[in-house]
Amino acid sequence: TLLVTGAAGQLGRGVIRHLLDTHKVPPARIIATTRNPESVADLAARGVVVRAADFNDATSLENAFKGADRVLIISTSDLDLKTGRRLKQHEAAVAAAKKAGVSHLLYTSMPNPEPVSPVLFAGDHYGTEQAIKASGIAYTIFRNGWYQENLFMALPPAIASGQWYTSAGDGRIAHGARDDMAAAIAAGLASGSTDSKTYTLTGPQAYTTAEIAALVSEVTGKPLEVIQLPDEALTEGVKAAGVPEEFANVIVSFDANTRSGRIAMVTDAVETLSGRKPQTLKQFLEANKAALA
Ligand code: NDP
Repeated sequence: TLLVTGAAGQLGRGVIRHLLDTHKVPPARIIATTRNPESVADLAARGVVVRAADFNDATSLENAFKGADRVLIISTSDLDLKTGRRLKQHEAAVAAAKKAGVSHLLYTSMPNPEPVSPVLFAGDHYGTEQAIKASGIAYTIFRNGWYQENLFMALPPAIASGQWYTSAGDGRIAHGARDDMAAAIAAGLASGSTDSKTYTLTGPQAYTTAEIAALVSEVTGKPLEVIQLPDEALTEGVKAAGVPEEFANVIVSFDANTRSGRIAMVTDAVETLSGRKPQTLKQFLEANKAALA
């Protein structure tokens, strides 16, 4: 039995769709856990076993994981840097998997999450990886690179004003399509592989901010100037645009990470695992032109 946490999230839904449609896993062999079972009524209607689980409630995780062989823990979106709640949630899930006798754990991490990472929540992922390794359960860690879909946040205001403020310098990112990552993760979950492995999932090519801006201009026909700022000035600008301070700090930590080269890698893991060609950045921009500009 294959279990997916966070089934109501976009990645969770994508993974389950690939299990059903690409890998033809019988729905009764899939357990979907979520805080809101009613939001995945469509999956239940297809025969997927739906169980309620909240990462803030360890007992709910233990009950939900009963009878599962391979468990995918999708990192939660519960960013709370002050309390460290997200790492506690993930640690509770690893402990619940251990109690339930799960044979293989899979987890969605981030590239280069070690403590030197500038990314403010990197410690959540690094700590979870350490907890998984300490559990003694065989594992597959997917270090998911940044989604192409993240550009839905930065690009529309930049395209509208013609100016894209960044502190990323000449650092590169190989954004990948969320659904390509879901396809790769589903393949890992559906496979019987019992080896403990760590994959970094990325898009097919890495670009600097200036190169992304040039692609955006080419696709939208609108000029887009990249303006490099120091981290402090960028933080002030992001806050002035109405973003709460804590999230502004997170956004700028992404740029510092990009500048440091820690997210510049390109791997073929998506294609190797899923057997399909990953979506290029240009294809993403062309497919979403109307939403972006
Ligand atoms: P979504 O925002 O669509 O989904 C959020 C996920 O968090 C859901 O799976 C949700 O589960 C889960 N979650 C939040 N709080 C809790 C909780 N208390 N208990 C249980 N689950 C919780 O994100 P995506 O699907 O797009 O991305 C999946 C994960 O990847 C994110 O949660 C985040 O950790 C990470 N991420 C990675 C990005 C990247 O660029 N690589 C970008 C954005 C996020 P449910 O509602 O079913 O209970």
